[in-house]
Amino acid sequence: MTRFVDVVDLLRLVDNCGVTCFIEELAQALREDFIRWHDFDKSARVATHSHVGVIELMPVADKGSYAFKYVNGHPCNTAAGLPTVMAFGVLADVSTGYPVLLSELTLTTALRTAATSALAARAVARPDSKSMALIGNGSQSEFQALAFHALLGIEEVRVFDVDPHATDKLVRNLSTYPELRVVRATSIAQAVRGADIVTTVTADKAYATILTPEMIEPGMHINAVGGDCPGKTELHPDILRGARVFVEFEAQTRIEGEIQQLPIDFPVQELWQVLDGSAVGRENPEQVTVFDSVGFALEDYTALRYIHKIAKEQNVGTPIALVPELDDPKDLFGLTANGRRRAVLRRVA
Ligand code: NAD
Repeated sequence: MTRFVDVVDLLRLVDNCGVTCFIEELAQALREDFIRWHDFDKSARVATHSHVGVIELMPVADKGSYAFKYVNGHPCNTAAGLPTVMAFGVLADVSTGYPVLLSELTLTTALRTAATSALAARAVARPDSKSMALIGNGSQSEFQALAFHALLGIEEVRVFDVDPHATDKLVRNLSTYPELRVVRATSIAQAVRGADIVTTVTADKAYATILTPEMIEPGMHINAVGGDCPGKTELHPDILRGARVFVEFEAQTRIEGEIQQLPIDFPVQELWQVLDGSAVGRENPEQVTVFDSVGFALEDYTALRYIHKIAKEQNVGTPIALVPELDDPKDLFGLTANGRRRAVLRRVA
């Protein structure tokens, strides 16, 4: 049977370990998978755009497992009581095509995105980084703050959102982490001034300019998460021109990332090469670095494999008959009333 992990199950897995521990374990698994980059059959995701949002399918496979995620991005959804980003995904066995896991991936996307951001920053931000500006205080934001605290030792987050209720919510949620100082800013410029790292995680289906060149100080690392589809960016292009830019999968980021604003030959560095040591990350303490994050299928593959492993270990999730398992695999018709239900569904735990 296929294991089904819904939101309640995923919460059990997260709560059994704690958000920070879950992110740290995911980051370790992500690192291991990024380093074996050449094992994967990779492609840019398939996007279906409407004037209000996007729905995307994200496939990737290695020799053993195939994974895909269904995910949307609808910045106006919150006004209608729905999250901006919602997702689910499947992990399948490449040797048979059998789907071994069907899982929620909305919460998981926030966890894996934060883990990837922090993994990238740990590789290219200044190692003495202690403060981070966090622009956009919606669904992703607490996960980003905690990931940077856990993986980089960030002690202070300066937070700003155009919606003060979003910031109220973030301040309330992070108040249970006294080791992380949360400072409310009254503008993006105030939040960014003097920060070692700047995370932008806003939602607007537009060429937005959250950061402008005069806000950027030598040595800053920018973790640009919110610009992730054509026509949806957060950085002024001159910031990119003055920085060393890191991407997940270049073919996809050229279409969806901040670098869509620049010519196709603008130099970028794929993250996996920094992680495996074959390329340098930051070249000097004054250099401005940018992680132009869009979210790559490999991150969901890693997350699905991790969820599958711990769900089996902790006996979490429900077995479901997502595909028929028959005594006679050729007798599909026999399942139906017209086929007199002669075929027998096997029930394998
Ligand atoms: P959300 O809607 O819950 O939160 C977005 C927040 O940004 C809102 O609170 C909104 O008020 C704020 N905002 C919008 N414009 C702003 C501005 N000009 N200045 C300051 N704040 C502003 O969305 P979310 O789930 O937190 O996602 C945020 C963004 O991250 C989305 O664009 C989403 O597509 C993207 N995302 C990227 C990845 C990735 O892997 N790169 C993964 C998940 C989400």
